[in-house]
Amino acid sequence: MITTVAFDADDTLVDIVAGVNAGLAAVVAAVGEPSLSVAGFRADADDCWLRMADQPATLIRETALRITLDRVGRGDETPRLLDLFFEVRFANSRPFPGVLDVLAKLRSEYQLGYGTNANSEAARCGLGGLFAFELYALRGGVPKKPAAGFFEALLAAAGARPGEVVYVGDSYDHDVVGAAGAGLRTVWLNRTGAPVPGPVRPDAIVADLARLPAVIADLKAA
Ligand SMILES: [Mg+2]
Repeated sequence: MITTVAFDADDTLVDIVAGVNAGLAAVVAAVGEPSLSVAGFRADADDCWLRMADQPATLIRETALRITLDRVGRGDETPRLLDLFFEVRFANSRPFPGVLDVLAKLRSEYQLGYGTNANSEAARCGLGGLFAFELYALRGGVPKKPAAGFFEALLAAAGARPGEVVYVGDSYDHDVVGAAGAGLRTVWLNRTGAPVPGPVRPDAIVADLARLPAVIADLKAA
């Protein structure tokens, strides 16, 4: 029996790239240094996301901004520019087209959940009030995906057993390997048609979230 469908946030339901780029563009404009660009901020951020993978997303972003701003001697402005970044980033972090329709269809049959490693709060990303539970890693001692503890916390929030929950996400390592390791069923959102990169097989693969209601109905019937 499947009672619950839970989702990753960034790059699955929420167009985080558009939000981050808008936030960084606002910072670039506010700083007004010709040598700084969105691409430069992104490069420092990519490095920080790798180095600081187990740290809170807000701290990673703050550290990355400071590194880039230090290059032009403006690091002391980090707090103000971090606030600006998040204000614009959230204002531009919206669900992908079609997401609200898919969630509305699924809600008639399943409990819906939201579980993210980062700080894309549902209410700030155009998804407020749609989920029976929301889980944010590094709050309340919940570890980040792909740790089993993340998915154990998700099951506790759902009040469900592992086989009753389908977890949907775009990251093979975090969302498929992590959730499958904790016994959940998995749907890999694979928009590019990439080959499955490891030995763990998702229960289903979709290129488009619009297929989810049919795919989950098939899993339920199997
Ligand atoms: Mg994701």
